Amino acid sequence: MNTRDSDDQILDFVGDITRDVGAVQAGILEQILAKNANVEYFKRHGLCGVPSRDDFKRAMPLSSYTDIESDITRMASGDDSRILTDAPVRQMLTSSGTSGGKQKLFPKSETYDIESVLMNRISRACLNKQIPIQGKSLQFIYVRKPGVTPGGVVTCSGLSGYFTSPAFLNRKIDPSSGFTSPDQVLLCVDFDQSSYAHLLCGLVQSTQVATLGAPFASTLVRSMKRLSDCWRDLCQDIRSGKVNSNIISDLSVKHAVNAVLRKPNPELADAIERECSKKNWRGIITRLFPNARVIQTIVTGSMQQYVPVIDFLSGELPIASPLYASSECSSLGVNLSPLSPPSPILYTIFPSFAYYEFLPVNCKNSSSGDLVELADVELGKEYELVITNRAGLYRYRVGDVLRVVDFYNSAPQFAFVRRAGVLLSVDTDKTDELELHTAVVNACSLLPQDVFVVDYTSRVDLCSHPGHYVVYWELSLPVSDSSVELLKLKECCSMLESSLSVVYLRNRREGSVGAMEIKLLQNGTFDRIVDYVVSNREGSVAQFKVPRCARDPTMIDILESNVVRSIQATHIPLPRL
Ligand code: AMP
Repeated sequence: MNTRDSDDQILDFVGDITRDVGAVQAGILEQILAKNANVEYFKRHGLCGVPSRDDFKRAMPLSSYTDIESDITRMASGDDSRILTDAPVRQMLTSSGTSGGKQKLFPKSETYDIESVLMNRISRACLNKQIPIQGKSLQFIYVRKPGVTPGGVVTCSGLSGYFTSPAFLNRKIDPSSGFTSPDQVLLCVDFDQSSYAHLLCGLVQSTQVATLGAPFASTLVRSMKRLSDCWRDLCQDIRSGKVNSNIISDLSVKHAVNAVLRKPNPELADAIERECSKKNWRGIITRLFPNARVIQTIVTGSMQQYVPVIDFLSGELPIASPLYASSECSSLGVNLSPLSPPSPILYTIFPSFAYYEFLPVNCKNSSSGDLVELADVELGKEYELVITNRAGLYRYRVGDVLRVVDFYNSAPQFAFVRRAGVLLSVDTDKTDELELHTAVVNACSLLPQDVFVVDYTSRVDLCSHPGHYVVYWELSLPVSDSSVELLKLKECCSMLESSLSVVYLRNRREGSVGAMEIKLLQNGTFDRIVDYVVSNREGSVAQFKVPRCARDPTMIDILESNVVRSIQATHIPLPRL
């Protein structure tokens, strides 16, 4: 299949590949086993020569990141021996997932980018089938500079790698569709410049914009916040027909954006100014982009929390949540009916990129013997996704829980249920219970000796821009104004932040996550929460465990109405050494 094929050809291909997913999966596993037969990891698990599928299933255990971390470290340091893969790995993907606070790295397969292009192409064909899109797309795409490990391995995120890859850059460009931003803007690594340039290019072509979006909903919301900060400058540039060099200093971006601006357009500038200066921004997207028909962005999992604000800004345009993707495997799934609400958003796992197995949730031993193949998952059941890929992951637990909701031909269609263990997430940061607990313990060590935290919980507050983490503390003593100074709470806030993962710290530095807040509670607040929970659910006080993330609205009300003092971090945190 070629990504330049017509929509009909693409959809025929999807039909063919999903007809017998069991056979496709068997073929993929055989290819992976034949290619990597001589790697150390296989020998370590007693596999010699090219193992059969049955040998693999018998001998290969489930794995998680800690099981392969030392192998990955060796590969990243330039060790070219056959550790996890037959061919040396020259590129690694930086995941937003972390392990022990450090960013996870995954070997990148040679086919990763081309698979991503293919999945994006399929996703576009599916959307076109439901609602023929005529016009351009304002996509808020941001890339980061790649890194290099001491061993010379290039590292970057899956998204940055994809948008800078030849597979993407050599795509067929249709001037009447495609992105409103030129590639120079997509490739700019400075958020302030690229977000401004995206907005400017989108606004000057506003009547041609048919879809708006960003890979993740958090990025779309952040980009719209940027609009609220800089619409006056944008109007000025549209009025003069020239981009402000103080805002866009990158020459290639400036030239490319000036070529889009072409000439002064005071009427358009006035119209934008009229809309943006109104107090109420409800429906601002449709007011500025009158022909926009769809918002394209991932809104499942932790991104679901942004649906209300996107609905507000877009005046409830339909949202198409196109893909389910990860560093472990380019694109895990595609949404074949992106405009089918109110039914749940479903992703069809694409059977030809990796070998997928499924660990039933709540199974007794969670061992490899419990794994179920893609073709054998059962309707209505929940599973944790386990991947074997071409890049050296074998029976690797991704940590995502999926529910089988339907089938497309023989391919199961999954609803994303949750990422196992994630407690707090604003953007790409994913903080689990242990990370939060360690941070709280570190911060508590700064309190005076006779003061301790009786109990704590947390939540994400999205009323601020950007959203931020709130940690609620009930202390062992009543809090008065005079005691607050003594308690060194600002230092506690900083310690909480600097104890979190590298992805959290990077997001804080880059401004996609706001400063952490500690809210001190009146004494007895957690007793009130216990009373509420126990009276509303069947259970005993003895069994009750404080949820470390408050999601229940009544519980949040109890917490908020008992806050006696709140303190927010002032500095951008540095990682703890
Ligand atoms: P990363 O390793 O940074 O690429 O992050 C991959 C993870 O992001 C996945 O394992 C999921 O937990 C999450 N993710 C990606 N796509 C989606 C989606 N469409 N819905 C919900 N979560 C997603």
